Amino acid sequence: MKVKVQLQHLKPYQPGKPIEEVKREYGLETVIKLASNENPYGCSEKAKKAIAEELGQLAIYPDGYARALREALAAHLNVKEEQLIFGNGSDEVVQIICRAFLEKGTNTVMAAPTFPQYRHNAVIEGAEIREVPLVNGHHDLEAMLAAIDEATRVVWICSPNNPTGTYVNETALRSFLARVPKHVLVVIDEAYYEYVQADDYPETVSFLNEYENIMILRTFSKAYGLAALRIGYGIAHENIIRSIEPAREPFNTSRLAQAAALAALSDQVFIRDCAERNKQGLEQFYRFCEEQQLAYYRSEGNFILIDFGFSGDEVFQYLLKRGIIVRSGCALGFPTAVRITVGSQQQNEAIIHALTEMLKERRGHRCKETS
Ligand SMILES: *Cc1c(COP(=O)(O)O)cnc(C)c1O
Repeated sequence: MKVKVQLQHLKPYQPGKPIEEVKREYGLETVIKLASNENPYGCSEKAKKAIAEELGQLAIYPDGYARALREALAAHLNVKEEQLIFGNGSDEVVQIICRAFLEKGTNTVMAAPTFPQYRHNAVIEGAEIREVPLVNGHHDLEAMLAAIDEATRVVWICSPNNPTGTYVNETALRSFLARVPKHVLVVIDEAYYEYVQADDYPETVSFLNEYENIMILRTFSKAYGLAALRIGYGIAHENIIRSIEPAREPFNTSRLAQAAALAALSDQVFIRDCAERNKQGLEQFYRFCEEQQLAYYRSEGNFILIDFGFSGDEVFQYLLKRGIIVRSGCALGFPTAVRITVGSQQQNEAIIHALTEMLKERRGHRCKETS
């Protein structure tokens, strides 16, 4: 048997280490996981209630069109219902876009490092990958424009970018979109939209009236705290949505996910509260970085990338033994950094305490070596 050649060099996605596994391996009772940008406050109580109410319906297939959720979300976003596509997480919308647009002989342009699923799915479809290095953690939009040619089908903009937390501001995005050729789809991945605080972050949904070649991705996995249920969505011109729909599986979002997302959407107080706490959490980390003179990017997401100046794997291991799971930058294209999800105030204090100890030990060690 023979799988596609493209698959022979692809590694399956390496997820953050699961809590249960770390507890077992290190004999720990409490473990804090700040590795996958999950919401430390869980989800809205309304979502839990909606799931409970749905339990009598488990034998029945979900609505493949997600009508109730679609109506509510369209109203929430002020777009037409035909402008939405739902996915089993926005991950699946990425996959649908790749299935629909990419094949051998085409190419796709993205930043590097960025969210790995764009590359992964594009490779499977046999497209050429054009990666444009970030500059100071930011998308290099001019270089991305220069990488576009007649065979380019999709350009990916991750804003806020995972793993740097940086964003593309309104002026830069408008200038970019005005120059992207009309045969190219620009996907703007806004998985962290609800957390963004920057005043000049673009309201891209309003761009849909001006541009027919953009698609916005959002998700219920991050601020909405429903990562386990797997539901995200794309917003675009109805012509784009109609043309990619055949690449979507008929019942790709579950009944529980649809019901929970619908209820979660109605609880914007929860979202605002999480965003506010996240902002305060980021400040905790900024203070720590300033005190310790560590390089970092200011983040518009619920995570922060901190450069320690030595192997991110080492920092990861140090924290792991103490029951804290983060993401090593080694797997993210930043070998001397770690990406930390902003947790509750208490969780942030715990990790900052451990990191302070680590730095003290290392610095003490270095002094001894040189004396
Ligand atoms: C987490 C994340 C996603 C995927 O989220 P889903 O759980 O699949 O909805 C997409 N894009 C970025 C940048 C992310 O960080």
